[in-house]
Amino acid sequence: MTVVESEAVVLCACDYGESDRIVTFFSLEWGLVRAMAKGARRSRKRFVHAFEPNSVVQLGLGRRRTLSWVESCRLVEGHLALRTDPLRWAYAGLLLETTLRLNPENMPSPPFYTLLRGALERLGTDRDPANVAALFLVRALRILGTLPSLERCVQCGATIEEASFWKLSLETGRFSCGAHGAAAEEGIALDKGSAALFQSMLRAPVEKIWRFRLRKGVAADVIHAVCTWVEHHTAQRLKSRRLLDRMANGSEGGTRFPRSSALIPSP
Ligand SMILES: [Zn+2]
Repeated sequence: MTVVESEAVVLCACDYGESDRIVTFFSLEWGLVRAMAKGARRSRKRFVHAFEPNSVVQLGLGRRRTLSWVESCRLVEGHLALRTDPLRWAYAGLLLETTLRLNPENMPSPPFYTLLRGALERLGTDRDPANVAALFLVRALRILGTLPSLERCVQCGATIEEASFWKLSLETGRFSCGAHGAAAEEGIALDKGSAALFQSMLRAPVEKIWRFRLRKGVAADVIHAVCTWVEHHTAQRLKSRRLLDRMANGSEGGTRFPRSSALIPSP
């Protein structure tokens, strides 16, 4: 048996048997990884607060063939600012759930880790959590290779400067100028300024994207479109999306703190 270490973000945890838990992490070294935490339910002292969703931990894994188990798990950053704000917590849930849905297991992606770690950090302090979530989702799709190029119209080759309106369709993988995408109902409608902003954001280093500010309606449209695409391609509803929808409609939120188990799906 070998024990290996990596920094990781806790995505979700569920009970297993009488005394164990299965924890899903997104780690710097191995990407998405699930591991058994033996005795985690019996002895809370051994892994103090280390398996809460959104926590950043220093993880020690024992690995043998396809099995992984938690040897050590030390809390690095608990993101308290997220835990005391239901709306930010709900957005964090969306980040974790999309990370879980879109990444295959044991496929390392340091850029994705940097993106997720930075987004959770920023979500705790930024005045506009929807902006953080939208930037995260678009950059995540780029890292995963599912976002079309936003440099030119796919049909006529026009640059951003040459058209006032643009359409980005995740479903068809097309980025089109107004003349060639306007007829399509599906897709994210972007004015020239928003299209140029996305272009700059996608060229910036992952850790520097949080200064970009989307127009309010654009952030909401992006979140809606990416969530719809993720649900379609994974054939699973996003629980965090439904919670955010309920909060937006005012039927939930306020002082009520959403339970993490309601947000984060079990593996
Ligand atoms: Zn065109």
